[in-house]
Amino acid sequence: MERRELFSSLASSFNKEARDETKNNILLRPPYFQNESDFHKECINCNGKCSNFCEEHIIKIGEDKTPYLDFTNSGCTYCDECAKACEYEVLNIEHKKQINAKISIDIIKCLSWNQTMCFSCKDPCLDDAIEFLGMFRPQIIDDKCTSCGFCIKACPTQAIEIKIIEQG
Ligand code: SF4
Ligand code: SF4
Ligand code: SF4
Repeated sequence: MERRELFSSLASSFNKEARDETKNNILLRPPYFQNESDFHKECINCNGKCSNFCEEHIIKIGEDKTPYLDFTNSGCTYCDECAKACEYEVLNIEHKKQINAKISIDIIKCLSWNQTMCFSCKDPCLDDAIEFLGMFRPQIIDDKCTSCGFCIKACPTQAIEIKIIEQG
């Protein structure tokens, strides 16, 4: 299989996994929420204001009118603007400043772990949360990772995984 074909096949399997997560109604939410149930109670009365205020354009509004994050093109700068815009206090800057996800590297898909030099994820990580053991074994340090998502699109093989943590 050509390298490009390999990447494309890995990308389509990643997208399938993302859809499967959505099917189970477990969504990656914007930061600053406290209870998952608040989205379903309050967001139906809103016109998706948080989405309009996100300069990174990562907040999408689902068919159920609740917001979710899409890291396909960018990540979260924790700029607070979505929380400031939320009139219903579903998002509130007083709540925890963390996205409900654990980010990790799939060593089967990662080029470096398979002996092909690649540092693509390292530079976009402003929190310096991706450390390489030697030249070929990148790892995400949980204590440093803010789940901002900026490393996701940088990875040519979609090896960076998002595991959504259920909250509230
Ligand atoms: S601004 Fe608040 S109420 Fe409106 S969609 Fe966003 S989170 Fe929901
Ligand atoms: S904190 Fe800023 S970048 Fe992150 S989702 Fe909210 S508006 Fe977008
Ligand atoms: S999600 Fe974590 S590892 Fe990735 S860029 Fe953000 S802080 Fe770094």
